[in-house]
Formats: sequence, structure tokens, C-alpha cells
Amino acid sequence: MTKFVFITGGVVSSLGKGIAAASLGTLLESRGLKVTIIKMDPYLNVDPGTMSPFQHGEVFVTEDGAETDLDLGHYERFIETRMRKINNFTTGQIYDSVLRKERKGDYLGKTVQVIPHITNEIQDFIFRGTQIGERDRAQVAIVEVGGTVGDIESLPFLEAIRQMALRLGKGMTCFVHLTLVPFLASAGELKTKPTQHSVQRLREIGIVPNLILCRADRPIPKDECEKISLFSNVQKEAVISAYDVDSIYEIPRILFEQGVDEIICQSLDLSLPSANLTIWDSLLNKLTLPLKPVKIAMVGKYVDLKESYKSLSEALIHAGIHSEVKIVVEYIDSESIEVDGVERLVDCDAILVPGGFGSRGIEGKISSIKYARESGTPFLGICLGMQLAVIEFARNVADMPKANSTEFDPETSFPVVALVTDWLTKDGNIENRSFLSDKGGTMRLGSQHVKIFKSTLSHKIYGDFTKERHRHRYEFNNLLKSKLQDAGLIISGETENGNLVEIVEVSSQNHPWFVGVQFHPEFSSTPKNGHPLFKSFIDASLSFSNSRIESSNSDNYSNLDKGIHETSRF
Ligand code: GLN
Repeated sequence: MTKFVFITGGVVSSLGKGIAAASLGTLLESRGLKVTIIKMDPYLNVDPGTMSPFQHGEVFVTEDGAETDLDLGHYERFIETRMRKINNFTTGQIYDSVLRKERKGDYLGKTVQVIPHITNEIQDFIFRGTQIGERDRAQVAIVEVGGTVGDIESLPFLEAIRQMALRLGKGMTCFVHLTLVPFLASAGELKTKPTQHSVQRLREIGIVPNLILCRADRPIPKDECEKISLFSNVQKEAVISAYDVDSIYEIPRILFEQGVDEIICQSLDLSLPSANLTIWDSLLNKLTLPLKPVKIAMVGKYVDLKESYKSLSEALIHAGIHSEVKIVVEYIDSESIEVDGVERLVDCDAILVPGGFGSRGIEGKISSIKYARESGTPFLGICLGMQLAVIEFARNVADMPKANSTEFDPETSFPVVALVTDWLTKDGNIENRSFLSDKGGTMRLGSQHVKIFKSTLSHKIYGDFTKERHRHRYEFNNLLKSKLQDAGLIISGETENGNLVEIVEVSSQNHPWFVGVQFHPEFSSTPKNGHPLFKSFIDASLSFSNSRIESSNSDNYSNLDKGIHETSRF
């Protein structure tokens, strides 16, 4: 039987509940348990894939092609279990499912209500989420309750988990509450009152936390923790100081040092060998080494909201850990390049154009790619970035003026990137359309095999095959493939059946490192392993940086930085 750790949040949002859940996952996994994590989102959208990254940050894509909340990305970076569609659900999906059953007559004409119908459905979805792989179930499922205690929207979730604790009985569930202990500058002290109120709120609903994780900008002194313990009726050892740290990957250790995993194991009646964090400790050591910085220009649209490139910035950090360099990401709004030109790219060691949708800032990205190709600056284009690299090459090398994607110019005379159905109207000779995914409409989603051609840079990086996740609609247009190849563009990866282009390169004779990939490698990068494509990209950036230093005859290594990498904070 799976046991459950429920994580609720109090006081304010954005405290890092996802990272807390993920870190608990690391600790429990390192004690030998098979762990999974489930996220319940309290909004009414049925499909998180259609939500704006401006509001919700990145859309994370699972291997099985689900477009989910970015917290699932954190889970995969911290635990071994791969997330699936079943690991994330929204209130909208719960209602959708209940209403469909009602339409089918499953409730036999009874009155359909929030309690018990919605709360039962939530419990069914939670149990469904405990599955790992085809047959296995998690020994412990960590369930993150989205929203904040006191929100009207979260109430059915809280009621459902309260009922679960009652149903499953002692030793089967553990409640963790994450709150804020703010520092008031005017009073010069940390304030525990919001936490006290938040726990009271939870208790009114019938949930008594086993553990309180108190977020603060500094370590919380013992007497403050004792005060919280007294007012919230939680053992003082179970009031944990979860203070700000430079790297999110420090959090499992901080929680471990305060005995968090032991408290959880005790409440779940689990007696296990103690946690082993050796691998995490060695990663952390590398993060604090004095390392040479490389500056990566990330030219994108949502640069003001870094959360929208979460997996990508983490993947760069992972590569930095493994290649032992400090990653400095310069987020550049592509529209500013359209106005000011490529000047800002000149002192960067590499250029990255990430995925995206819509025409805003497209020409600025294309100018950046042109600059990268002509100046020999290492370049990585991801999804839209790859498509724009093809457009740039078509326009400026392959003599296809105004080449474009039909996403941006449906009338272009050189649709080098287009919907597969657009290629059909132009030529009609694509027979096998089975590769068109029906998941999420016309979007190609989820993990698929990529066949890689010998004697290419990609082959050095990946070998013969890889599997990567996708999320896009438009494809490299095979009808213009030979024209691009004749002009020197290298196609180094395709789908297994050869129907779609997956990777393009510029020849190593003309450029040290220029790769565009139709898939999203950032979704499968973990701090423990790094990702081969990002590691190679970072190595190339380091060589480029070194060669520039050499050529400018400067042996001034004063930029050796005692460095915490640019990384997200807890
Ligand atoms: N907009 C492009 C497409 O739909 C690229 C998508 C992406 O970068 N994820 O194909």
C-alpha cells in the first residue's frame, strides 16, 4: 500500500512548495524508498498546455506527452521516477471527469455534489498517480496541494486529503505545511504570527501538520521555532528552518540536517537506513568551486519571466556542474535586438535561442543566429530556435530570400518550416502521415526516438540513437531539404522512420559548434547526470571563450570567480 506525504502551503504563494516536495522526494528516495510526486492544481483550466507562460512559467512536457506544470520539472530533477500525465491534475480535469460521468448517467440520477463526488474523484486521481511504470506503485507518494490554505479554490483538495487520512488510518499519511516567517526590517525581527494563523486555518479544516517547514530569508533561531511549536501544537523538532540558499540543490541537505526525513519516516511508521546524500554533496561542492565563467546569451521572448525558461536555465547549470564552469546567463529580449542590433552579443561566449510561439521578436532572433553563424560563436537552437536557424540559413546561405515558417508568413515563397499539411498542399507526395500525433490536436508531443547520422557533431554527442521530448506543430519542410543540403546545411538527425528532420548543423569546417534541435533536451537534464548536448555546448563555449582570451593576448584570468552558479533560489 502506498503511503502519502501531503504538502500544503500557507501565508503566500511562491514559497517553493514544488522544490520542497522535490527535496523531500530526494531524501526519501535516498533512504531506499520508491517515491513519486503528484501535483494538484486548483485552477479550472483542463489543459495546462494552453496557459500563457507569462502567467504560469514554463509548460513542462513529460515523456508520455503531457503538458504540465513546471513543478514536475523540479520533481524529475530531484528524484529518479519519471513523471507522467497522471502526476499532475487540475480542478478543471476533476470537474470535467465528474461531469462526463454525470452525462453518462454513472451517478444514477443522484444529486452530484462537491462532497462526496468531487472529493472522491480527487482521491481516485491521487491513487491513480501513485503508479510508476506499467505495474509498479510508489511506496511513498508526495502530494503537493497547489494554492494556499484559506483559498476557496483549494478547499476540495484539502477536504479530500483529510478524508484520505481518516480512511487510510494511522501511519499511512503525513502532513507537511510550508509557511512564511517574514523578517520585518522596521521591527528588526522575524515574525511568526502569519505561520501561527496559517496552521490554525489548517486545523480548522481538520488537518494537523506533522511538520512545519518555515521559509525565511535567514536561519530561524531556535526560540522562534519553539514559539511556533507551542502555538501550533507541533513538536519543536518538527518546526524546520527552511532558509534561503544560493542553490536549490542545497535544500535536501539542509532539510536532512534538521532530521526532516526521519520525522516523516516516523509518522509513516517506516524504519529505514539513514539517507545517503554523497552524490548531492559532491554536486554541491562543484557548485562552490572557483570556476571560470562562461557567458551565455539567451535570446528569447519571455525573458522578463525567467520561470518560463526554468528547465533550460537548470539544464545549463547542470552542464556547468559537470563541465566545471560557472554559467552566467544573460537574458536578452529579442525585440531589443531588432532595435539596437547585435552589439550585446559581441562579448558573449555562446548564443542560445530557446523554444517559443508567435511572431513577436522573430527577426531579432534570426539576426542573433546570423551573428552566431558568421562570427563562429557556439550556437544552440531549441525547437523554434532550430526552425529559425533553418530560416536564417535559407535566407542568407541557400539563396531563398524571405524564406520563413508558415507560422509567421503563410504566403512565403520558401516555406522552409511549415505544418506537414502545408507541405502536402504544395506537393502531395508525403504518403505516411502516421507520425502526426493526435495528442493535443496537431502538436507533436512527448518522447520520441531520434536517429543520428554518422560523421556529424551530433553523432559525437549522442551516438546512433537518442530519445527526446517534443512540443511543436511546425516541421522542417522536407520538400526544400535538398536545396538546403546543397547549400551546406547538415541534417544530422531524423525521426526513426526518416519522415521528419530532428537536428541540423553547420559543417565543422565552417563553424566550431552550431546545432539546432527540433526537440527539447532541457526536459531530460538532471543535476546528477547533466545532458550530453548541453555539456558539449558548454565545453564549446568554454573553448570559444579561451580562444578569445588567447587571441586578445590577455592572460588576465581575474574573471576566475569564486562562484555560486547563477541558479534559482529556494
Ligand atoms: N512555434 C513552433 C512550433 O509550433 C516552435 C514551438 C516550440 O519552440 N516549442 O512548431
